[in-house]
Amino acid sequence: MLSLYTSRTPKSRILFEENKNYMPYGVSSNYRYFDPYPIYLTKGKGSRVWDVDGNEYIDFNLGFGVLEVGHANERIIEEVDNAIKEGSILGFEYCKTGKLAKIISQRYKLDMVRFSSTGTEATMHAIRFARAYTKRKKIIKFEGHYHGSHDQLLVNVNPLKPGSKVPSSLGIPEEAIANTIVTDWNDIESFEKVANEDVAAVIMEPVAMNMGLIPTDEEFLKAVFELSKEKGFLVIFDETKTGGKFYSGALGYFNVKPDLVILGKAIAGGLPLSVIGGKREIMELIGPGKVAHGGTFNANPLSVRASIVTLTEILTESSFYYMHRLSEMLERGYREIAEDLGVELSVYRWGPSGSIYFSPKVPRNYKEFISIDFSPWFTYFYTTLAKGVIPMGGFNEEWTVSIKHTEEDIRKHLEAAEEGIRKAKE
Ligand code: PLP
Repeated sequence: MLSLYTSRTPKSRILFEENKNYMPYGVSSNYRYFDPYPIYLTKGKGSRVWDVDGNEYIDFNLGFGVLEVGHANERIIEEVDNAIKEGSILGFEYCKTGKLAKIISQRYKLDMVRFSSTGTEATMHAIRFARAYTKRKKIIKFEGHYHGSHDQLLVNVNPLKPGSKVPSSLGIPEEAIANTIVTDWNDIESFEKVANEDVAAVIMEPVAMNMGLIPTDEEFLKAVFELSKEKGFLVIFDETKTGGKFYSGALGYFNVKPDLVILGKAIAGGLPLSVIGGKREIMELIGPGKVAHGGTFNANPLSVRASIVTLTEILTESSFYYMHRLSEMLERGYREIAEDLGVELSVYRWGPSGSIYFSPKVPRNYKEFISIDFSPWFTYFYTTLAKGVIPMGGFNEEWTVSIKHTEEDIRKHLEAAEEGIRKAKE
């Protein structure tokens, strides 16, 4: 099966052999590595990317959910080009950041916002803000949810053995995760056991998107909000991914008001920008001599201007309608393939994103997710790659459709997927 990949990517192999001398595994993020060596890309345009061997791929990974505007979007290029001529970083505050803050506050119904550059930084700061506000220490997170690579939340992200609390990396001391409580997603009873008066906040991906894509039980969500009120802790929505899936993210979709919200990925059209926003009384604790929040590259002019254009001109209501419609075509197509081939395959779609499982039903939490045999998924994945389609970023990721994808791209995706699923069944 791997020969499907290796026979088409000899230059990636050569680059890997060279790069691994200077970068562990030849990559700058662990999530970009896969066996037997990672793919090295040269460029992207619209719905496509190209690798160093000249292979073209229709890309449904889109920078792990970043590029709903498509690769090398003309409007973003124009804006960033103009911006860079006036300086890429100015040091003191950029004059247009307030405009972006207002756009985001109104769209996501947040009283106030602060900017960082990555989702990791934003979740790290959000839990500090929650602790400062509540004067409590404990943070509840859910098994299988990912909040970036800082120590306190890098716990039970992808454990081989679910259940007991375990850091998801070497080098994280016990003390760093002593105040992190891990519990099961979509499970009210388990949550009730840990929800108490010591807890500063519960942080969640409001729709889990780092163990495939898992539907959120709305009764569960309701119970989390109720218990947080009763016990006096905050609800933090980590919308690094979900924030770009619907016009006003998951909080708009579920019509709820979390205390703090994190945005990232898609909101700046491919430039690094993240947001921590929420209720005024929490956000007003931030400031010199009070709660620390900083970052040299925070709200740099390139990211700010790209984000203003992304949110006001590109990711409009009608763009979401378009992406959702194409994504629905994919969902339908996968279901038809499964039926035609008689394969036990389940599919879940949420807006422009979706995932498939070689299992009769979509998992509800990490325990169910990790009990699935993923070997057929890898056969499917390498087959689709060989057919010029990146169907999603990994077995624990999802597809994303951009405004640049076409119905023809969806048909090609499904053609490749059908062959992949057929091979996976053999
Ligand atoms: N939170 C969620 C839900 C994510 O999916 C990610 C990244 O995939 C992060 C946080 C971390 O974001 P970043 O990679 O920008 O640090």
